[in-house]
Amino acid sequence: MSDESVASDASVASDERVAGASIELENLTKRYPGHPQPTVDDMSMEIKAGETVVLVGPSGCGKSTTLRMVNRLVEPSGGRVRIDGEDVTGVDAVRLSRKVGYAVRSSGLFPHLTVGQNIALVPKTAGWPKRRIRDRVAEMLALVGLEPGEFHDRYPDRLSDGQRQRVGVARALAADPPVLLMDEPFGGIDPVTRDQLQDELIRIQHELRRTIVFVTHDFDEAIKLGDRIAVLRERSRIAQFDTPEAILTHPADDFVSGLVGAGAALKQLGLTRVRDVEMRDWPTVTVDTPLQQIFRVLRGSGTDEILMLDRRHRPCKWLRRGDLMRARGSLARAGTPVHATVTRDASLRDALEAVLTDSAGRVAVIGRRGEYLGVVGMKTLMNSVHGLLAADRLDAVEHRPERVAARARPGGGGSTA
Ligand code: ADP
Ligand code: MG
Repeated sequence: MSDESVASDASVASDERVAGASIELENLTKRYPGHPQPTVDDMSMEIKAGETVVLVGPSGCGKSTTLRMVNRLVEPSGGRVRIDGEDVTGVDAVRLSRKVGYAVRSSGLFPHLTVGQNIALVPKTAGWPKRRIRDRVAEMLALVGLEPGEFHDRYPDRLSDGQRQRVGVARALAADPPVLLMDEPFGGIDPVTRDQLQDELIRIQHELRRTIVFVTHDFDEAIKLGDRIAVLRERSRIAQFDTPEAILTHPADDFVSGLVGAGAALKQLGLTRVRDVEMRDWPTVTVDTPLQQIFRVLRGSGTDEILMLDRRHRPCKWLRRGDLMRARGSLARAGTPVHATVTRDASLRDALEAVLTDSAGRVAVIGRRGEYLGVVGMKTLMNSVHGLLAADRLDAVEHRPERVAARARPGGGGSTA
């Protein structure tokens, strides 16, 4: 499938596959009538094509207002927005909606329209032929993990929160916009579903490479999703705009540190991927391996446990010496089924969770088709945690005095970095 060839190319030729557009905010300002202070005060930032930038900051700091000036749902009082170099300050919101998808909290679906009709809205205003719209709607439903046959004709009130949110994303992407704006799209959704939706978004973005501006007040969500994070303080002033790693390890000031919160080292576990740590080879057998051979593998391996794979090479169960002894010739019911696995793209946090869940101190790593690749153990994970904690302590020694000194410099009111 083309789908797979795309995924395997991803790390090699990422730039050629970027379908997003660059966004420049230039001295963007918004004054609402009756507010003594501007809600967005002279904000400038550049977002690269294909990048996911998360705006994170306390409630009321102007995140939504900033976002809505990009697609002109809010009229700027001053400044400019450029998309791929083109000044869109004069372009009306309807025309802009073909270029800029928009997904919001509680999905914003029209209750009197079916799922299919909701997704078709923007392509329809763009004048797409019926047939193309129909194909596109089905394609979008599949993209967000909803079976087209099952969901196309449903009304929004017949969907779970998570499904509604998926439809919201499908609708935002329907007209194939290079830019996607998302305003707390997963707010108010239970943590498990929210985590799934975040994973889905990462997968979709990996495939589509749009430019995404994502608003949240949840710093953990920002870390998980952002290529870069803009930490905003009041009036949408940028406190720090950098990669999640840089913000976690070198918060610009106390405001950012406060937002990062406790446990920065542990949060970094969410940034490190399984592919970045050492995977072990584990002794394996398959369901077709004769029992005698299994004993030989176990004896020769020097471990107490081997991993049995099914005919498609997927991890199937863990077998210990004692399991084999008790099995008396039939392995059908012996051993412990493999419950948790992780992919190479999973975070070390996910891996740690899987290891702890399994309570046996290791988790199998699988490829795209579920095939066995290796094993990551507790020891490797703990080494990573220790490494991160050590780096954190070192950082505290090396950087904090410097920051204090920088603040104490005479006349050093503004940031120069
Ligand atoms: P955030 O998304 O960060 O919570 P918002 O951009 O929604 O912040 O709001 C920032 C400030 O602007 C708030 O004080 C809010 O009351 C005000 N505000 C937002 N929208 C409007 C509006 N349409 N008219 C007047 N004031 C508004
Ligand atoms: Mg908001």
